[in-house]
Amino acid sequence: MTVWYRDIAQLTIPTPFAVGDVHVYVIKGERMTLVDTGPKTNEAWEALESQLSAIGLVPERIDQVVLTHHHPDHAGLIERFPHAAVIGSKEGERFLVRDDEFIKDHDVFYKTFFSSMGLPESYFVLIEKMKEPLQALGNRGIDQAVSEGDILQGASKWKVIETPGHSQGHISLFRENDGLLIGGDMLLSNVSSNPLIEPPFSSGEPRPLPQLQYNESLKRLQDMPLSAVLPGHGPVVSDPSNLLSHRLKKQHERAMYVKQLIAQKESTAFEICMQLFPSVYRKQLGLTLSETMGQIDYLVSLGEIEIVDRRGDAFLYGALTNIKEPVNEQEIGR
Ligand SMILES: [Zn+2]
Repeated sequence: MTVWYRDIAQLTIPTPFAVGDVHVYVIKGERMTLVDTGPKTNEAWEALESQLSAIGLVPERIDQVVLTHHHPDHAGLIERFPHAAVIGSKEGERFLVRDDEFIKDHDVFYKTFFSSMGLPESYFVLIEKMKEPLQALGNRGIDQAVSEGDILQGASKWKVIETPGHSQGHISLFRENDGLLIGGDMLLSNVSSNPLIEPPFSSGEPRPLPQLQYNESLKRLQDMPLSAVLPGHGPVVSDPSNLLSHRLKKQHERAMYVKQLIAQKESTAFEICMQLFPSVYRKQLGLTLSETMGQIDYLVSLGEIEIVDRRGDAFLYGALTNIKEPVNEQEIGR
């Protein structure tokens, strides 16, 4: 189903993932631009073709594909546009190309990281399982790497804004004259974006701190004159300013609850994860570990908690002061 938002066409594409449908956008400028593609499934391709046709386009008419980020629900169908240039962050490219070296780095990174969280080895099967969604991800490099402040060629009213956090190399497109942002998964109406833990840009670099990156991106957007955000999932964000403040406030509250748990008992990140998400951590281990680590990274950055000891390869966190807040199972972001 195609919905027009001002002069931008929003197409809605099914995904096989729990997140549900994904939105992709068509910008009719000097060049025909598609922002994101949907996942690499037949259903998604059929939906994309028929919705392009409903606005008078065939896939061959698309001159360029901009990727907000390299996740499978957004970047699956890039091989279906062989004549179009793929535009995106250089940082996301290794996820799209997935050469042997990247796969090796990926596995070593998660083994080290999960060990530091105190995840028992019996759960390490997760590292293989994390690669399953990659089957719905496209396999093709970036033709034109863009970064902060770049003007989109062929759609010159749109400027690239770097909004990392939900993924490394996440970008958004901003149109200054009416304050419209095409935001990928940067800001969603119904759910907070998960600060997914991903390997660093190149091996040997320190682990990215996605929650801190994400908060910086939120604050960054707070300083911009946004009128609306066209998101990757769910309803258009028509009051971005309120939602940005709400997301920052809620995250702080969640972190303070984590601090309370740590104040009660020195813990590994995995122990905290089990307490935060007792009924879902087994099913959604990747998401819940990322969410937990995000709160821990945030608390460490504030000096509220610190690493007080080690248990084997795992870090044990302790709080610097005591606090009391009500106990609730936390929601997981997507
Ligand atoms: Zn998404």
